[in-house]
Amino acid sequence: MVGVSVEIADIDGLPEGVAEHFREQGIEELYPPQGEAVEAGISEGESVVASVPTASGKTLIAELAMLTSVARGGKALYIVPLRALASEKKAEFEEFEQYGVDVGVSTGNYDSDGDWLASKDIVVATSEKVDSLVRNGAQWVDDLTCVVADEVHLVDDSHRGPTLEVTLAKLRKLNDQLQTVALSATVGNADEIADWLDATLVDSTWRPIDLQKGVLYGQALHLDDGSKKQISRGNEKATAALVEDTLTDEGSSLVFVNSRRNAEAAAKRLADVTRDYLDPEERDRLREIAAEIRDASDTQTSDDLADAVAKGAAFHHAGLASDHRSLVEDAFRERLVKVISATPTLAAGVNTPSRRVIVRDWRRYDGDVGGMAPLDVLEVHQMFGRAGRPGLDPYGEAVLIANSHDELDELFDRYVWADPEPVRSKLAAEPALRTHILATVASGFADSEDELVSFLERTLYATQTDETGRLETVTDNVLEYLERNEFLEREADGGLRATGLGHRVSQLYVDPMSAAEIIHGLRAADDRPTALGLYHLVARTPDMYELYLRSGDREEYTELAYEREPEFLGSMPSEFDDNAFEDWLSALKTARLLEDWASELDEDDITERYGVGPGDIRGKVETAEWLLNAAERLAGELDLEFGAAIREARKRVEYGVRDELLDLAGVRNVGRKRARRLYEVGIESRADLREADKSVVLGALRGRRKTAESILENVGRKDPDLEGVEADGDATAEATTATGSDDGGQQSLGDFE
Ligand code: ADP
Repeated sequence: MVGVSVEIADIDGLPEGVAEHFREQGIEELYPPQGEAVEAGISEGESVVASVPTASGKTLIAELAMLTSVARGGKALYIVPLRALASEKKAEFEEFEQYGVDVGVSTGNYDSDGDWLASKDIVVATSEKVDSLVRNGAQWVDDLTCVVADEVHLVDDSHRGPTLEVTLAKLRKLNDQLQTVALSATVGNADEIADWLDATLVDSTWRPIDLQKGVLYGQALHLDDGSKKQISRGNEKATAALVEDTLTDEGSSLVFVNSRRNAEAAAKRLADVTRDYLDPEERDRLREIAAEIRDASDTQTSDDLADAVAKGAAFHHAGLASDHRSLVEDAFRERLVKVISATPTLAAGVNTPSRRVIVRDWRRYDGDVGGMAPLDVLEVHQMFGRAGRPGLDPYGEAVLIANSHDELDELFDRYVWADPEPVRSKLAAEPALRTHILATVASGFADSEDELVSFLERTLYATQTDETGRLETVTDNVLEYLERNEFLEREADGGLRATGLGHRVSQLYVDPMSAAEIIHGLRAADDRPTALGLYHLVARTPDMYELYLRSGDREEYTELAYEREPEFLGSMPSEFDDNAFEDWLSALKTARLLEDWASELDEDDITERYGVGPGDIRGKVETAEWLLNAAERLAGELDLEFGAAIREARKRVEYGVRDELLDLAGVRNVGRKRARRLYEVGIESRADLREADKSVVLGALRGRRKTAESILENVGRKDPDLEGVEADGDATAEATTATGSDDGGQQSLGDFE
């Protein structure tokens, strides 16, 4: 089928005006893999698995499927691999709203049914979100006619893969006519994925721009066509020399490294290279962007990023606030930022092509192995795939760096010549099945053990395994666990029924083991639990991503554990039980971070104290809010006391304040710092704010008239107008003493809504 040429105008069934729209975007002739997808019936409702290199136009394949489906009166769902990509995809698809296609993105809480999405033609969501919508009985899910799974090779991910796998199985069970489109990086066994999804396979290595791969050793860049290129380097390190070499040719580079810290350090060093290649206009523009970056958050990370950006370099990792991320990506696409050093998240889904890609680190710390482990071929190839901007660069170049002759050979064998590893289902692990079996029973997909097993047979796992009986054995263990914790009842004839508690747990979207831990902890409490006690309780569930203990932490947190022992819910494991104790201390570290945040400690001090980025604080805070909300509902379900204490702890973490500020901090635009400033001048509640002397309010808010007016309006003051009001100088002085001089009102954490 290779060589078929298809014009966008040849495709029938698109909504009126869309073909023209694509043509205006420069898309006239389809890329060969897109042509193959059309041949396979992508625009006629056929299921397709497209295994195609990064940046080779997979999005258009998805769009053709979704738009034709919608034009036939259907409804489409686009499943994104990362929450951070949801709004990006939504913005992309919103271009079609002018042709009458409504787009909605489903983010937010995991316990709603998202009924408002019923009117949308295209819905964008993560697989976790779709899973939770199904659990909560969202009716519109039954109306879906087309589902797209982006980056479907991630079913191989042991943490998140099983959710994607089970979600696709459920959607396909709900509608056996469902058009399923799966987009994948090039993998070895795409045929197995196609078999599983009853789809036609489009398997292609075609790329819109040539890619040269190579390995740098000393001054010689060895390329895969057998040629060599000299990279001159005086005292420069390899990466800097490669970046400079690209710059002399007016190209930009992406440098992949293995940790956030390394990304930051590399950007700092590479900024010394790029700054000599900026013209005055670029320098001015970069200075402006640097100022925006500083405005978005008041942390060290933010300052470091701004410093680098002002000189034409940047770093990018999952710890960045989302404002920072988009500022950096845009500046790179505009060719103002000349180099980005990044962790692999940037290779995963963000469209940031670059002349040269440098994979500096090909090993990374792996917690499961307890040491450095080589990256997967698939991952390195995805990084490679970001090389070359079609229409702008003559070709893309992807480079690894070797430190010895042996390593040169090794890197060629391991990554340049190698095929990516096959995708393997990770479903048969207990933690995954625990969650999904309960949800499958609770949401009515199976009401007996036989039905459960036959449902599980619709998964990729079942099509891949030869090991007879393994699924039954694990399933049986899991059922026993769920029964023991009163989430599920097994009847003598093999019937299965979720209990009220089980239904609740499934809807709350928590791991049953998290729910069991929370229930156990709450039952063990005799007195009203403290915030720290509750934070620790949720921090030790499997749903909270752990903070690692650094050297010295063990002593520090052991001491803290004994000091505050009465506050913990449930008993502390013995110090001699190494693993359990270490986990418990990691949870304490997380709990302590949350307590610091809820005690108004500056974001900056927190990032320093715990060695995390502002995005991490946000992540922990959100997870804690969600789990405390679950704890409160579980307490309600079981008629346990302490609902009020849990609610207070949750609110404190949500706003990042001590309890006396809870009332004020909830007013829109106030936030933790402004609430403290108001409080310090005697305005202690919303009622006070409605009555207070306006010049005092304005003084406490440091003369920011617009902000003050909108706050007064939000609190429901009758006359919020501040015209002619002068700020009270004493109030300003007092407020500033209380909170320092920076003005990060609601802005703290950069991307807090
Ligand atoms: P992928 O999802 O495979 O990583 P994208 O879908 O983001 O890649 O496509 C990469 C770029 O190629 C986009 O900028 C897109 O507009 C462009 N593109 C896709 N298909 C075509 C086409 N047929 N003709 C011209 N440009 C295209």
